[in-house]
Amino acid sequence: MNEKKWSWELGRIAGIDVKIHLTFFFLLLWIGLSGLISSGSFLGLVNEVLFVIALFVLVVLHELGHALAARRFGISTKDITLLPIGGVARLERMPEDPREEMIVAGAGPLVNVVIGAVMFLALLLMGAFNQPLTAELLQTNFWVRLLSVNVSLAIFNLIPAFPMDGGRVLRAILATRMDYVKATRTAANIGRGLAVLMGIVGFFVNPWLILIALFVWSGAGSEAQSVELKAGLQGLAVRDGMVSQFYQVEANQALESVLQLSMATGQGHLPVVSNGRFLGFIRRGDLLNAMQRLGRRAPAYAAIGSEPVGIDPDMPLYEVLPKLTVNRVLPVIEQGQLIGLVTSDSVQQRMWLNQKLKGERTAPPNEKRDIV
Ligand SMILES: [Zn+2]
Repeated sequence: MNEKKWSWELGRIAGIDVKIHLTFFFLLLWIGLSGLISSGSFLGLVNEVLFVIALFVLVVLHELGHALAARRFGISTKDITLLPIGGVARLERMPEDPREEMIVAGAGPLVNVVIGAVMFLALLLMGAFNQPLTAELLQTNFWVRLLSVNVSLAIFNLIPAFPMDGGRVLRAILATRMDYVKATRTAANIGRGLAVLMGIVGFFVNPWLILIALFVWSGAGSEAQSVELKAGLQGLAVRDGMVSQFYQVEANQALESVLQLSMATGQGHLPVVSNGRFLGFIRRGDLLNAMQRLGRRAPAYAAIGSEPVGIDPDMPLYEVLPKLTVNRVLPVIEQGQLIGLVTSDSVQQRMWLNQKLKGERTAPPNEKRDIV
């Protein structure tokens, strides 16, 4: 999901942009409509919408907990986005020190615990609990209901499984006594075990638990995968993971000869250059389209379909991965000249080779600490 494109800025809190995702409005609409239908009154609608807004204030405060804890360790937060499933604080990076990660990950749920305690005390003093705590009271009293949701928010986030905060806290605790990749793998396996348990319990108790279990299962896997990728690419630059032998075409070369080259080499993306300067890629689909529109003799540059920004050969290879989800092939540019192409395949090959080479020699004793 592209959070950036479909979000609106709500405002800034403590210097951090707070944004709201478009789908959140659909949630409000849906909640409002179901409130209208179930209560049959406009007041019921307003009440439901206010409740969701209050709930998301809690979520923003939770995310601010992470962001402000991270700030203490010199890590800034790009923004906080509200999604129907909760909030996302985009930290510039995760702390490398396990103790710092523990604090940053724990700070969010801690905010909910503190808010919960304050709300509970206030409600207690106001006499909200003088009557027995029934399901009806939970449903009808706005603040009691908000408190109960806040408590479940804290508990949910403390489940020791990725992508929940509890999973990060668990990994951080494990990482104080083993290396980071192993800690992540162990935490992910614990998370998977929990997901299976949750799924089984959910089957008998509440089908929502099955949904959460699926979410936890996939979250555990993707966290482990991204950490292993990062560790596998540690110390490698783009230069190490690029293909430096490839075919390219001149800007004024005729399209029919470009097609011949494309067929003969099997290269799906052909870079177009002019005096060694990269102009863009021709993909086979673009090529056939351009030939139909402009004829076989038209120049190659007319068929350019994508113009990704060139990347620096000395950039850490790991940082290229997110860019490869947008463009399948990236040009590597050094002093204005095209010197290589990076694809997810070329990166994977390099990582595989790196791991094989690493496995054959013993790692120096202090190599363990700075994997992230
Ligand atoms: Zn959190």
